[in-house]
Amino acid sequence: MGRDLHCLTLHAAADGLARGDFTSVELTTALLDRISSIDANIGAFLTVTADAALSQAAAADARRATGEVNRLDGLPIAIKDVLSTAGVETTCGSRMLQGFIPPYDATVIRHLRTAGAVMLGKTNMDEFAMGSSNEYSAYKVVRNPWDLGRVPGGSSGGSAAAVAADECLAALGSDTGGSVRQPAALCGCVGLKPTYGRVSRYGLIAFASSLDQVGTLTKDVSDAAMLLGAIAGHDSRDSTSVDTPVFNYLADSDDGLHDLKIGVAPQYFGKGLAPSVGSKVREAIGTLVDAGATEREISLTHTELALPAYYVIAPSEASANLARYNGVKYGLSDVNASDVDEMMAGVRAEGFGSEVKRRIMLGAFALSSGYYDAFYLRAQKVRTLIKDDFDAAFEQVDVIATPTAPTPAFELGSKLGDPVAMYQSDIMTLPASLAGLPCISVPCGFVEGLPVGFQLIAPAFEEERLLRIARLFERFRGDMEAPAREVDSL
Ligand code: GLN
Repeated sequence: MGRDLHCLTLHAAADGLARGDFTSVELTTALLDRISSIDANIGAFLTVTADAALSQAAAADARRATGEVNRLDGLPIAIKDVLSTAGVETTCGSRMLQGFIPPYDATVIRHLRTAGAVMLGKTNMDEFAMGSSNEYSAYKVVRNPWDLGRVPGGSSGGSAAAVAADECLAALGSDTGGSVRQPAALCGCVGLKPTYGRVSRYGLIAFASSLDQVGTLTKDVSDAAMLLGAIAGHDSRDSTSVDTPVFNYLADSDDGLHDLKIGVAPQYFGKGLAPSVGSKVREAIGTLVDAGATEREISLTHTELALPAYYVIAPSEASANLARYNGVKYGLSDVNASDVDEMMAGVRAEGFGSEVKRRIMLGAFALSSGYYDAFYLRAQKVRTLIKDDFDAAFEQVDVIATPTAPTPAFELGSKLGDPVAMYQSDIMTLPASLAGLPCISVPCGFVEGLPVGFQLIAPAFEEERLLRIARLFERFRGDMEAPAREVDSL
């Protein structure tokens, strides 16, 4: 006992705690030791709250000793630094919020605390969740645990790398255009983005409010179901959260795959997709078909418009959301400025990094008078066309299967000089984000020693179906023969 506790899944650790094989303090200590011994080489954490984690773990052990506890009770989890945590610095990966200590918890954090989860700390991310490689963090890069010369994906790169490197049992992330799914694919873990409205955004620092959603990064699909069950639900503090029942996402059903129709769209298997990734994903679809599902070709005709539409809508919303960081109520303060204009300009010049500035300029331009109809309104119309494509497809199929990312993890620095190449990392995740649909990335194999992810997309609020199919896929896929991880040689 003891040595490999950090490698457990949430559900295996919950079983171990329930059996009394180990305590939450022992489990939490194992993870904190793991973080101390490897995170200098990974960079997944911005803040580690070791003392708080150990006292939460001790409290969890005390609760368990005196009665029934929640299944998440005593399980150590990491939190993307985009979520407000009372009393714990929350920077959103930006200099702008350096030293910001929120006075309140995000609703999802409140749910986790109520469930008794232990918080290990805050994970690194691209600044304000804008990016696909985690290289836009104002603090440090994150390295991919499989190959330390490569990116973990982004913007939840710290959360994905922390899960993949066994520095936490599971983590929360956020996904606006792919920020949970793409890093999950690149790091070989499971990434779930729920339906827009399924999980409260209260306390999630806003990037693009019509797209942002909290998601989970876990070691398997059952863990995603377990964590979603804890964080989902209506919240009167988020007017876009939807009042619809939260199911028991863990309920096992042995319906199998016999009546299942899987949609496969040629638009996801063309330009930009690395052939080796395409063939792994085709094998994954074959696994579902061998298990009894039927494959149907569908057409998602407007797929290639998703990237340009997203890069009008998301920056437009970001430019409005980020206007609050001007040194008055939020952001750095510049006490030496001689007037208010100089102060605001100085704070924004210093506090934001170059990618965030690029998005603010793009968004302000797209919303400016005379351009609004040509850009923002047009992009919203394209968004409707994309949603209509999915609605039509779901009249014929139960779930849609695609690659999650067009390539495996790329080398650090390789896309930094070319923002469009960076944006193209998300071509497979953006359409479902624009349509607000629930999706999951599940590992489906390796290409040249690097993990590949397989994305499943379901109709709105059908997380139960999505998770059931993803779990069956995981079962039929079986254990994958994994190449050596570079993190293991540290
Ligand atoms: N990579 C995309 C972007 O930079 C998506 C980010 C996200 O989902 N937060 O906008």
